[in-house]
Amino acid sequence: AMHDTGWKRVVLKLSGEAFAGGEQLGIDPGVVQYVADAIAAAVSEGIEVAVVVGGGNMFRGAEMSERGMERGRADYMGMLGTVINCLALQDFLERLGVDTRVQTAIHMSQVAEAYIPRRAIRHLEKGRVVIFGAGLGAPFFSTDTTAAQRALEIGAQAVLKGTQVDGVYDADPRRTPGAVRFDRLDYNEVLTRGLKVMDATAVSLCMDNGLPIVVFDLMGQGNIVRAVRGEKIGTIVCP
Ligand code: UDP
Repeated sequence: AMHDTGWKRVVLKLSGEAFAGGEQLGIDPGVVQYVADAIAAAVSEGIEVAVVVGGGNMFRGAEMSERGMERGRADYMGMLGTVINCLALQDFLERLGVDTRVQTAIHMSQVAEAYIPRRAIRHLEKGRVVIFGAGLGAPFFSTDTTAAQRALEIGAQAVLKGTQVDGVYDADPRRTPGAVRFDRLDYNEVLTRGLKVMDATAVSLCMDNGLPIVVFDLMGQGNIVRAVRGEKIGTIVCP
């Protein structure tokens, strides 16, 4: 059945940390299976889903640069790490019968298409899931910023950020008992209070373009489908 309310096209941002799940290193297949099942369900409702995949389970450029590596090179290593996650997600989706394309910002033609926005849109219109890898292809950015940029460029209505917590709080809920969750926030509040939504570059890009951000608990039962449908979930940052 086609979905006639809510979003038509979304960008789902998956952090690399989520991919690690309970594993010490690399990828937890159970997590990828769970996420793939949910994406398959959302796509079957006719919603166009693009995914931006992070790489924090593989490599974080900024951390390695603090430990002596040249920042640019470390960031490129981080971007390459995201592609490993992309291929894992692609594999699980394809085995569910969902057509996918991985598009990377760094060319690697044996494993992925180049990022071509108009082609990405065409894939989405055909019901394929487009998985964006290698971030923006430039150091000093994050995959959160990539998610915002890709959403804007392909005309998505929202960025859906699946995380480990069920929304945005006024303090870290894992450390501060009584931390209060926001249902709705505006961008300025996120920036001035330094709330943990996305990095400031990503938030300001969304702010400048009126692009909504939904922060939700990725692993909560049924959450991905609800977020993709545009149902009320987690915290929404919007104009
Ligand atoms: N990265 C980058 N430019 C980008 C996106 C990512 O340099 O446009 C690098 C950066 O080093 C980052 C790493 O890739 O630490 C992994 O991405 P990110 O930290 O955003 O992953 P997540 O936190 O979502 O797991």
